[in-house]
Amino acid sequence: MGGGNAAHAIPHRLPERYAVSGATPPTPVDLLIRHAYLITMDDAGTQIADGAVAVTGRRISHVGPDAEVTGRVTATRTIDAKGGPIHPGMVETHLHASYQTFRSVVPDLIREVDTFPTVEQKFYDVVTSEDEELAGLLASMEMVRNGTTCFLEAGTFLFPDAGAAAASTVGIRALLGDVCINDQPGGFAQGKEARAQGSGFITRAPYDLDSALAILGTQLARNADPDALVRGHIAVMGLGTASQALLLEAKRLARDAGVVLNMHHAYSVADTDADRARYGKDPVLHLAEIGVIDRSTTLGHANHLTDAETEVLLETGASLAWAPAASMMWGHGGTLHGRHAELWRRGANIGLGSDSANWSNDFDLFRQANLAVLTARDAHEDRTYLLAEDGLRMATRGGARAAGMEDTIGSIEVGRKADLVLHTLDRPEMRPTSDMVRNLVFSSRAKSIRSVVIDGRVVLDDGVFPHLDEPALLARIDEGAHALWDRMGYTPFSERVDRRAHDRA
Ligand SMILES: [Zn+2]
Repeated sequence: MGGGNAAHAIPHRLPERYAVSGATPPTPVDLLIRHAYLITMDDAGTQIADGAVAVTGRRISHVGPDAEVTGRVTATRTIDAKGGPIHPGMVETHLHASYQTFRSVVPDLIREVDTFPTVEQKFYDVVTSEDEELAGLLASMEMVRNGTTCFLEAGTFLFPDAGAAAASTVGIRALLGDVCINDQPGGFAQGKEARAQGSGFITRAPYDLDSALAILGTQLARNADPDALVRGHIAVMGLGTASQALLLEAKRLARDAGVVLNMHHAYSVADTDADRARYGKDPVLHLAEIGVIDRSTTLGHANHLTDAETEVLLETGASLAWAPAASMMWGHGGTLHGRHAELWRRGANIGLGSDSANWSNDFDLFRQANLAVLTARDAHEDRTYLLAEDGLRMATRGGARAAGMEDTIGSIEVGRKADLVLHTLDRPEMRPTSDMVRNLVFSSRAKSIRSVVIDGRVVLDDGVFPHLDEPALLARIDEGAHALWDRMGYTPFSERVDRRAHDRA
């Protein structure tokens, strides 16, 4: 087609993407990513083999075939993806970022019931805001390198400002909760063996209803700025540590603020049994009846559910944060007996979670997506039970909804915040380019990640953090972690145990 006059010959108005080239001057944009294999994760699951995405300010302004988009924009910066796939940033939906500096400190040979008193309680007794900032930096850098652009923290920073500072420094989107919200620490059923010993739980956290209510909702102040990268939500520890009065107030605050209520639920059989004894019925049924579970509630783990509970979860539209590695690490059977994959197939919303150091040990949602798909196939003895696309969709769209941000992030569509992950084809795992999604989920996972954009800003650029001195930060983090372990009374490599499993059989 020729000049602008040709448009008059067209009897009906065509979609804008067919607009005649040259009819309007190109629109200035900040960033243009060209020649990408676009995995949009929109409702239709659109993929475009030679696509382009343009970013203006914080948002995606143009999406489409490369020739079409590049004809309409003039960019301050252009990145040639060279055919590499680009997908929406992943959203981490169950995370304890502050634990990252005692990664791999919990020995393999430990009874679960001993873990809290011998490691976590000691950590919480001595951790400083500086320690938490270092852990947050480590967690945030690790997440960005693995393609995660937003995380829903479980509300376990003692100093949320330290977590916020770390996320801001790295440039990752974060949703923080208030400090370890609970009012009946003795209700914590730890693991499958027994209740936690002692009544201290976290001595620097709330311990009764008044002390919990005094801080509940504090983090919501971050949401006054609609564009804030670090936001607040309502998190409750759960697992038997919250009274009904506290849960009801938490849900009221979350509802009024338009944010999710995020809580642990049914991690182990013991947790679920304790809740069932307390409520006199299946816990999810009770929590739905009193209004705590609805479409804006996200339950972390939820490994043990009855048939009746799955029906209620489908009716309410609640989200589950599935953390397969955190169940597998401790042998809780969530991938064998969990209902996550079944619920997903029936239309429930599932996000993915990494939990924490010593529970899954790395913050890599590609690993969780891979485990989710493969363990579901194994548990159901069916190759077709979940597909690679399901894993990637849980990690992106599913996560965005579980974090209460379904209208803002989770897909590559015009108007969404520009949270993008670009992979290179220059990895053996990415060749041949037969199926890009299967290559990503089953083969390369995070290894092929090249660049990450969050809120329109290139935070990882060709494998480098352009705004950070990563080697210096890692050295500082390691030094800080060793000092923290000294205060916790932990000495590395001090375990006097036989490490060989086959000798213990
Ligand atoms: Zn957790």
